[in-house]
Amino acid sequence: MKYNITVSKTKNSRLTEVDFDKIPFGRTFSDHMFVADYIDGEWTNLQIVPFSRFLMHPSGLALHYGQAVFEGMKASKGHDNRPYFLRPELHAQRINASAERMCMPTIPEDLFLQALHMLIALDQDWIPKKVGSALYIRPFMFANGEFIGVAPSDTYKFIIFTGPVGPYYPKPIRLVVEEKYVRAVNGGVGEAKAAGNYAASLLPAKLAKEKGYDQVIWMDPHEFKYIQEAGTMNLFFVIDGKVITPATDGAILKGITRRSIITILKDKGYTVEERLISIDEVVEAHKKGLLQEVFGTGTAAVVANVSDLTYQGVQYDLPAVEEHKVAALAREEINGLRSKTIPDERGWVVPVEGTVVASTSSSH
Ligand SMILES: *Cc1c(COP(=O)(O)O)cnc(C)c1O
Repeated sequence: MKYNITVSKTKNSRLTEVDFDKIPFGRTFSDHMFVADYIDGEWTNLQIVPFSRFLMHPSGLALHYGQAVFEGMKASKGHDNRPYFLRPELHAQRINASAERMCMPTIPEDLFLQALHMLIALDQDWIPKKVGSALYIRPFMFANGEFIGVAPSDTYKFIIFTGPVGPYYPKPIRLVVEEKYVRAVNGGVGEAKAAGNYAASLLPAKLAKEKGYDQVIWMDPHEFKYIQEAGTMNLFFVIDGKVITPATDGAILKGITRRSIITILKDKGYTVEERLISIDEVVEAHKKGLLQEVFGTGTAAVVANVSDLTYQGVQYDLPAVEEHKVAALAREEINGLRSKTIPDERGWVVPVEGTVVASTSSSH
């Protein structure tokens, strides 16, 4: 292996404390994490250490000026009980695209991947086995330069930590078109998985929740006419048998699930259009009885069916979720690839290296 990553293992594994039948999302953390420092123009102190808190200087730049980017990905166990990633290299590439936008250093793709393989191989017993559950992986980078001043930091930390997540059976979600706040503008940072984007989304999301909706649909910031995405998911519309998803135009997050589902649906013979789609077109299609499905896509939920969407105070109900065939097909294909129950003809599924003698004796 190319990089010298030191490993110090925990003496107090918390694995036995976890109830794998009841995992609260995002609140359980595995035994180890990968940590690296960017100092004097290079990544150094490459190490896997027991998961723990760390000290931050009060002037640590990310805390003030928001130089922070992240990824969200998963490892899952195949039916052969071995751990797999889905298209991990795309996450390595995307965190670098995000970093460049935020004036942060990039991480060599092979370093990102080596750290990922070593960490997940070490904590592979934390990967839940139930279909649909997974080990959620959170790589992130932030500025930890210690000075006051709006300038790029001179030092950064890159960390990967993980935690098991239970099977995600999302209820159909209710969406409302956001007509006041915007998420992203062309030329802004909407394409970057940057921490601040999520802070900006909290207030509109909270206001929508108070009215009974699960997420807002973000619109273009100029006319509030064209659809961007929903919450932290990309959106797909099925109209008269055709699949339409907003083109990633500089303000929409380039979802990896989105990208995979476009390929899957095209391979299955669907027409998939990546283009501008206006809310008027969606409403028109609904009036004609041609709006068959709306669904959101992302790593966490994979595919979330939409039950209804509201625009200008009018609620438009979608057909019953059981009839959402395209969403179901996309979900089954992604979950099937992750669990190795369908053939991986595209070479997307990557076995976690260093696991040939995987421990198969753990009890969950
Ligand atoms: C992460 C994210 C998505 C989904 O991307 P995936 O790569 O599919 O997980 C969509 N929209 C936003 C705003 C996101 O942050």
